[in-house]
Amino acid sequence: MKRIAVMTSGGDSPGMNPAVRSITRAGLHKGLEIFGIRSGYQGLVDGDLIPLDSHSVSGRIRDAGTFLQTSRCPEFVKPEVQLRALKVLEQHRIDGLVVIGGDGSLKGARALHSYGLPVIGLPGTIDNDLFGTDMGIGVDTALNTIISLVDMIRATAASHRRCFVVEVMGRGSGYLGLMTTISTGSQVAVIPEFRMNIDSIVEVLDSRSNANHNASVIIVAEGVCQGAEFMQRLTENGKVKQEVRLTVLGHVQRGGTPTHYDRLLASRMGEMAVLALISGEKGSMVATVNGKMQLRDFDEILDRRKALPGDAIRLARNIGIEIGDVVES
Ligand code: ADP
Repeated sequence: MKRIAVMTSGGDSPGMNPAVRSITRAGLHKGLEIFGIRSGYQGLVDGDLIPLDSHSVSGRIRDAGTFLQTSRCPEFVKPEVQLRALKVLEQHRIDGLVVIGGDGSLKGARALHSYGLPVIGLPGTIDNDLFGTDMGIGVDTALNTIISLVDMIRATAASHRRCFVVEVMGRGSGYLGLMTTISTGSQVAVIPEFRMNIDSIVEVLDSRSNANHNASVIIVAEGVCQGAEFMQRLTENGKVKQEVRLTVLGHVQRGGTPTHYDRLLASRMGEMAVLALISGEKGSMVATVNGKMQLRDFDEILDRRKALPGDAIRLARNIGIEIGDVVES
């Protein structure tokens, strides 16, 4: 293992830059040459590689986004496109690859690994929907961004005695929605893992209004429906007495300055990826399980649905959050 490449792919997440920095610095320390692939799989197929030195990643621990840039490259599912990517890596004499991204990106990484290329993946996603790791890189920052924004919304909601519906990200997962409902002191979580019960939600709002609570906040995960659609369903029968307003948090959720947790997680995972490649490991994702770093085979973690933490569901119920009914699987 003399020369390795690193790329970021799929949706950006705060912590991708600290991960690239750690891979570069740890790799250089171990005597490797490091290349950065720009714009994800598209850049790989196009041969857009740049050498990285210690200076290239200077200061990157503080930046959200990804300075290597990212893209979506739907063509990459095709074997002939994957073979083109392998040719590019061969031309640049790349011996090992680190892919930082979500579920889709790691499927691309598994495809490259299946041709014999040593590949290690890092979970770079704010959604925390990757099976096999307790946390993804960027999740903690996204959670903190959401709670600071919802705290601000709550101030105006309380001043006007309004109910706010807040749409948060998460793709098919309710992780961000559930966790931030708990940590913002919101009353209702509408998440894909549970079936919402509009009557119960109206009851919650009603009883709070009767008890002279100033404000209520409902967190709606994008994986259920758009916030506007939920608003429509909530208000269509005219039972909600309070004024209801909608805020869609949108892409600001990706842009927060990486938190201490994410900087450390990304640094540790990046270092582990380099050490893994040097020691001959391949075809796996670096995961954190109960606070410890682990390598988990792509086949063990991909194509599996990650469940929400059971203790968080219990906590939400026990402190009176309305989360709807269990969806039978
Ligand atoms: P994320 O990595 O955040 O889940 P995507 O699902 O958009 O984001 O995947 C990012 C990229 O990974 C895709 O644009 C594509 O290039 C590649 N990819 C996704 N799924 C596969 C797959 N099944 N096989 C090979 N490559 C894939």
